Amino acid sequence: MVFYDAVIIGAGFSGIYQLHSLRDKLKLNTLVIESGKDLGGTWYWNRYPGARCDSESHTYNFTFSKEIFENWSWPERYSKQDVILEYLNYVVEKLSLKKDMLFDNKVIKAHFDEKSKLWNIKTDKDKTFSCKYLISAVGCLSAANIPKINGLNKFKGNWYHTGKWPHTGVDFKNKRVAQIGVGSTGIQLAPEIAKSAKKLSIFQRSPNFSIPARNEIVNDKYKKKIKDNYQEIRDLIKSTPTGHAFQFSSQSALDVSNEDRKKIYENGWQKGGLGFRGLFKDITTNLDANKTVVNFIKEKVEATMQNKDYAKVVTDFNYPFATRRPTLNTDYYETFNKDNVELIDISKDLIKEITKTGISTLNNNYEFDIIVFATGYDAITGALLSIDMVGKNNIKLSELWKNGPLTYLGLQVPGFPNFFTITGPGSPSVLTNVPMAIEQHVEFITDCISHMEKNNLKTIETNDASSLKWRAIIDKAVNETLIPESKSSWLYGGNIEGKAQVFMPYPSGLPKYKKFCEDIVLKNYEGFNFTDN
Ligand code: NAP
Repeated sequence: MVFYDAVIIGAGFSGIYQLHSLRDKLKLNTLVIESGKDLGGTWYWNRYPGARCDSESHTYNFTFSKEIFENWSWPERYSKQDVILEYLNYVVEKLSLKKDMLFDNKVIKAHFDEKSKLWNIKTDKDKTFSCKYLISAVGCLSAANIPKINGLNKFKGNWYHTGKWPHTGVDFKNKRVAQIGVGSTGIQLAPEIAKSAKKLSIFQRSPNFSIPARNEIVNDKYKKKIKDNYQEIRDLIKSTPTGHAFQFSSQSALDVSNEDRKKIYENGWQKGGLGFRGLFKDITTNLDANKTVVNFIKEKVEATMQNKDYAKVVTDFNYPFATRRPTLNTDYYETFNKDNVELIDISKDLIKEITKTGISTLNNNYEFDIIVFATGYDAITGALLSIDMVGKNNIKLSELWKNGPLTYLGLQVPGFPNFFTITGPGSPSVLTNVPMAIEQHVEFITDCISHMEKNNLKTIETNDASSLKWRAIIDKAVNETLIPESKSSWLYGGNIEGKAQVFMPYPSGLPKYKKFCEDIVLKNYEGFNFTDN
C-alpha cells in the first residue's frame, strides 16, 4: 500500500486546483485518482453534440492565478466542451500536475482506520493507497441517471447517456432517434441531432423553461478587455450570490407598469443568458412576480413555434420559473419547426417499455435506431455514494445519508475524520457558477490542512450537532423561496426513485456562505473538533 499525505478523488476543476494547492503551496505528497482515462471531469465525459457551458466563458475558469487567466483567450461567449477541456489541459500543463494524477482507476473503497488515523483506499484496478487527508472532488453531476425502463437490454439499436458520450462520436445521419429528457442537456442536444437525423422524437415528461443563450464569437477587442480587467472581473464574480458576472435587480417585478416590465423582459431575452432570472429581485421568492415571467416566456415560445399543439406541451409549466436550474438554448424551440422533429408528451402517454425495435408508451409503439438518454444525474450525492465509504465506528456513508446527506458546510461529514468534500451537499455548488464555489472550497480546505500541519494536529472532524444545525439553516433558507414548489427536481433528489427528498445545496449565495466559513475559522473552527494524537 502506497502512502500519500493527501489523496484527491477526481481530476476535474476541483481536483486540479486542490492538487496544485496541497502539492505546491503546502508541499504535501498528494495524488489525484481519476476514473476517466484523462483529466477534465464533467468536460471529459460530456461530449454530446451541443455540449457547451451556460456560464459566460471568462467567468467559467480559474481566477486564482492572474497569469493563467491572462494567458488564455476564450473564443466564444459560452465555451464548447472541447475548448474547456483544452483549457483544463493548459492549466494542468502549466502547473505540471499530470505526473501526480492516476487515471483509469475508480476509487471503489475508502475506509478510515481508527488506529492509524489514516484512510485506506482501493481502486477497481486493485491498487491500494493510504493517506492522512482524503478529499472528494467527484463533482455534483457525474453519476449518470439511466432510468430503469423495462426492456432496455432487448433494444437492438444503440443507446447512449449524454454523460458517458462515446469519444468516437455518434453518427445520426439517416437514423431514427429518440431523445428522452429536456433538461439543460437535452435542450442543447436536440437542435444538433435534428441537423442530421432522419427523424428526431423528443420525449418530454415535464416542460422546461429555456432562455436564449445568444452565443457569439468574441472579437480581439473584447478578449483584451477581459484580460485588462482581471481584478475587476474576479472581484465581481466573487461578490455576487451566484458567482456569475451579473447582479440581481433590487426592483420588484410588481412595482413596475406592465409596459415597463415587458420592456425589461424583452431586453433580457434579447441579451440572453442566465442573468435573465435576476431581472427582478423577487422572481424566485414571490409567486405573483414569478407569474409575470412565466407568462412572458410562454408568449415568446408560442410566437416561435409553428405547431401550436407542441407549443402548448412545451409551455405547460407545472412549477414556477427558476425553481429548477433554468436552461439556455440555441434554437431549441425553432427545432420543433423542422419536418424531421416530433414531440412526444410522456406525461400523459407514459413510457411502458423499451422493445427490440424502439419504445412503447401506454398508447403507441415507436421504432428507433438510436435512443439517447438526456436524463440527468443522481446529483450531488450519487458519485460519492457509489464508493464504499466507511468512517469511524464502522459507520457507512450510505447508512448515514439514507435520509438525505448530512454535512457541515458541505465540507465535512460527521464520523468521517480528515475527509473533505469539495462542493459537497450543503454547499452553494450547483446554485452557482461552479468554479467560483470550487475555488472557495479548495482554499478553505487548504487553509484548514495548513493549520493542522502547522499545529501537529492529527484529525479534524465535524459532529452531528453542527451538521444538523447546518441542515436546519439550509431548510429554513430554501423554504423562504419558491424552490420547494418543484420537489421533483434533482436539487431535491426527486429525479431518482427511492432517493431521500432533501434539498441538497446551500441556497443563500456564495458571499453569505463564505462569511459563514470565515467566521467559523475566526472562532477556531467552530463546529469542528481537532485531535492531536
Ligand atoms: P436534468 O436537468 O435532470 O434533466 C433530465 C431530463 O430527463 C428531464 O427532462 C427529466 O424529466 C427527464 N427524465 C429523467 N428521467 C426520466 C424518465 N425516467 N423518463 C422520462 N424522462 C426522464 O439533467 P441534465 O439536463 O443533464 O442537467 C442536469 C444539470 O447539469 C443541469 O441542471 C445543469 O446544472 C448541468 N448542466 C449544465 C449544462 C450547461 O452549463 N450548459 C449543460 C448540461 C447540464 P423530468 O423533468 O420530468 O424529471
